[in-house]
Amino acid sequence: MIKTIAGTKDTLPIEIYKWHYLENLVRSVMKEFNYKEIRTPIFEETALFSRGIGESTDIVSKEMYTFMDRSETSLTLKPEMTASVVRSVLEHSLDKQQQLNKLYYISPMFRQERPQAGRYRQFHQFGAEALGASEPSLDAEMIILAYDVLKKLGLKSLDIKINSLGIPESREYYKTLLKKYLSDKTVHLSDESKKRLDTNILRIFDSKDETDQKIMEDAPLLLEHLDNDSLEKFERVKELLLLAQVPFEVDPRLVRGLDYYTNTTFEIISNSVGSQSALCGGGRYDLLANHIGDRNIPGVGFAAGIERILLACENENCLSINDENPYVYLIRLNKELVKETYNIGLKFRRAGISVELDYLNRSVKAQMREANRLNTRKALFVGGDEYENGEVVLKDMDTGDQEIIKISQLDGIIKKIKG
Ligand code: ATP
Ligand code: MG
Repeated sequence: MIKTIAGTKDTLPIEIYKWHYLENLVRSVMKEFNYKEIRTPIFEETALFSRGIGESTDIVSKEMYTFMDRSETSLTLKPEMTASVVRSVLEHSLDKQQQLNKLYYISPMFRQERPQAGRYRQFHQFGAEALGASEPSLDAEMIILAYDVLKKLGLKSLDIKINSLGIPESREYYKTLLKKYLSDKTVHLSDESKKRLDTNILRIFDSKDETDQKIMEDAPLLLEHLDNDSLEKFERVKELLLLAQVPFEVDPRLVRGLDYYTNTTFEIISNSVGSQSALCGGGRYDLLANHIGDRNIPGVGFAAGIERILLACENENCLSINDENPYVYLIRLNKELVKETYNIGLKFRRAGISVELDYLNRSVKAQMREANRLNTRKALFVGGDEYENGEVVLKDMDTGDQEIIKISQLDGIIKKIKG
């Protein structure tokens, strides 16, 4: 028996309605905020990601699916979308066609991590990127967008953390302060953090090591050394979030290590999913486009993990109702009426009403059981004396109420149902 690869999984019909619901919700919220979908290839040149995400990040240093194709080109399965979206905007000069491009995606991503609950090797993200303006209202919009989707799913146990990383100029000075602070503590740092001293010093704040965390408790904070413009922008983001009634807390230890990240950074955490608790992360990256391309395009975005969100939904009992069952089940009372029943079903289907009927020559009792199992709203009985009189019986499965309908008036009934 050949099975799925560790860290990947099938999404089975029994759970697909949750994906559809989430995807439809994302599309409708994105539409409300006027974001347009963008789709990019599953694989790209490796250099896009190593440059666009950063050599010193976990993703690039140890998680990418990179391989040589038959013509010896190094390719990588996309581990995230921002680099691809920025590449696409640059490549097609979308920034020259209109100054601000507001884009969204729903897509699989690939990272070779240790599989566990909420952590897969093929997983799915939805997210948005707004390219072409460094207005703080867009930073706030990213947080509001992500939060609105999660709220509309019914999730309650959410925390939003925000921080500002300022700009490289103000960060440089801060980094020297941090280095000085850590200089006599280096021996106590974990190996990982020792490496980060030179490559990615801010990310020592991210360390899961307890000693590291203790050390970082008293470290100077970037937020206390921001330039005035960055501080002002941060204030504007906070004001807009307050206005939008989106609850947040400032976490001065929330960081991203790379120079092309600027100003806002944020994370949305769920308290109902255990250790893989980050549902969503994002921030501003005004210097990224110049890093992978030939010109400056300021940008801000977020990415949210669909599997983790669905896990949170399960734990909080959201999305528990499958709304994809057929509307009506056709029950054939006489074996001779196979063709006629099928044709009535077809009329419903062609009118846009979801119908199921028997294909297995089942008894009336078994057909009733099937209607119950499918949890249809209605059952339509075809046969018996009524059929002889040119009628069928429509039963409401909740109330048990029955209605006799002339087959010649079926169109009217269909209209009424669709009403
Ligand atoms: P983590 O700290 O959990 O590894 P990350 O910082 O690598 O997260 P991002 O790159 O910011 O995550 O991706 C955004 C979101 O995508 C995460 O908040 C998470 O919900 C989801 N995600 C990331 N990696 C995985 C994975 N391997 N499996 C499932 N979901 C993931
Ligand atoms: Mg990760």
